[in-house]
Amino acid sequence: MSILANLAHALAERSVRVVDLTHTLSPNFPAIVLQTELGQAAPFRTEEISRYDERGSGWYWNNFTCSEHTGTHFDAPVHWISGRYLPNNATDSIPVEDMMGPACVIDCSKESVLDADFLLTKDFLLRWESEHGQIPERSWVLMRTDWSKKVSDPVAYQNFDEEGQHTPGPSVDAMQFLVFERKVLGFGTETIGTDAGQAFHLRPPHPAHDLLHGAGRYGLQCLNNLDQLPPTGAFIFCAPLKIEQGSGSPLRVLGLVESR
Ligand code: MN
Repeated sequence: MSILANLAHALAERSVRVVDLTHTLSPNFPAIVLQTELGQAAPFRTEEISRYDERGSGWYWNNFTCSEHTGTHFDAPVHWISGRYLPNNATDSIPVEDMMGPACVIDCSKESVLDADFLLTKDFLLRWESEHGQIPERSWVLMRTDWSKKVSDPVAYQNFDEEGQHTPGPSVDAMQFLVFERKVLGFGTETIGTDAGQAFHLRPPHPAHDLLHGAGRYGLQCLNNLDQLPPTGAFIFCAPLKIEQGSGSPLRVLGLVESR
């Protein structure tokens, strides 16, 4: 049997399961908040066009509006100034082969419960590799924190105080290692950014954005159900909407997982 026929058979008999790594887009979903003097991302909103009524008796549909960075979403290289002049840096020009790949899931959930400002370091990744093997080139590395479980409480999910936002993320040396030594395709988190809430203190500031996008790689944010993926062996699909010159987009992220 061919690879694709094998896959179809495995999906039909559920020896390969599909895990939905996406949150529901709704007006209540926490949106990124920047300092008040900066431009702000719009939350998700819908407007009903008709619902089997005088505006259209046989059909139901809505208009919706949101920013490119709302809900579970994809970051393209053009999103950051470091990726501004790269070729194929926007949602309509990224190679489609980059919108899928093997997933390495780094479990930082215990550390993130103890410390909301937890930073995933290169040493932590090397310890993960000593247990699970080297992170393959063109992998998607997903930082599991179980932060997604806070999503029904927007205050806890945002976790702001007078110093700003407190959410876990990667260190500078972790991002240098993943981008330049492991040559990953992308990095994903369960929080609102690929970077930690306090990452403006790091040098360079916001190392996930700066290093990933400067190297033409991608980000995923507000992921869900990472606790349902194994550390290795899953395969994810994460295709953004084909927005002309888009800096990112909400998307459906799916993970294929083999039952063992
Ligand atoms: Mn984003």
